[in-house]
Amino acid sequence: MWEAAGNTVREALANSMAQETSRDLGPVVLLGPPGAGKGTQSKRIMEKYLIPQVSTGDILRQNVDQGTELGHIAKAVMARGELVSDDLVCEMVRLRLKEPDCKRGYVLDGFPRTAAQAGWLDALLDDRLFDNSRPTRAWPIVIRLDVDYNQLLLRITGRRSCPTCGRIYNVRFQPASVDCVCDIDGTRLITRNDDRLEVIQPRITAYQEQTRPVADYYQRTGRLISLNGDQPMDVVTEHIFRILDDHHA
Ligand code: ADP
Ligand code: ADP
Repeated sequence: MWEAAGNTVREALANSMAQETSRDLGPVVLLGPPGAGKGTQSKRIMEKYLIPQVSTGDILRQNVDQGTELGHIAKAVMARGELVSDDLVCEMVRLRLKEPDCKRGYVLDGFPRTAAQAGWLDALLDDRLFDNSRPTRAWPIVIRLDVDYNQLLLRITGRRSCPTCGRIYNVRFQPASVDCVCDIDGTRLITRNDDRLEVIQPRITAYQEQTRPVADYYQRTGRLISLNGDQPMDVVTEHIFRILDDHHA
């Protein structure tokens, strides 16, 4: 049903990874509130370590655009700034992680977002519920980006993205060279439907109420690494690469 979404990106990654000989990185989880920089940093990790970005928000938006059954269910929930049900999202992630390009590792961007999803992910990694795709290291590296509330508002309201290549821009912090046009492919940039002021607050509330317990869960099990996400993008990237290189060594 929703497996078709994102095939082209997956094929391109699978091809580039076929030539990659470095060691497995395993799962990486990026946590943080809406606008923290998860998508921006995931793409940089993807480019450096040649592992795919698995963004549940992006996959859901693709399903909405393609009018799949999942997309129909998710559309109204996302427009209200609420979370799509754990069952649907976990099944979507299960199917995505079975793809061959996830064998060496992957960056989870926007997942897990509830305690139930975090428990589900641990069970998946622990039991190796899927065949032929065992990561060499079972537990994810979990990095949380902490960002001040007012900065989040500036980032979210200024966010623009390219519907063709997925590149993320910001009218204030990362503008395109030509106003509203993608530097890479010339496509007109779009504003996400849920990046409107009236939807931002419910999304931040959902983060505080439902996603904070995920960070607590990883903290209790000694797996949480917190980073100051308020810093400039390149500084945040440098910190993340250092963490991943340490684990990679
Ligand atoms: P942001 O980049 O602002 O953190 P995302 O693109 O990750 O937002 O998510 C957009 C919307 O998609 C969320 O508000 C929610 O409705 C839905 N969504 C994304 N990931 C999940 C998830 N893991 N569980 C439930 N809903 C999700
Ligand atoms: P998330 O995926 O966590 O919702 P994004 O990566 O989409 O966040 O970033 C949200 C917006 O903030 C984007 O417009 C992006 O260009 C911008 N941004 C990301 N990281 C930073 C940063 N460190 N400083 C300033 N702006 C940033």
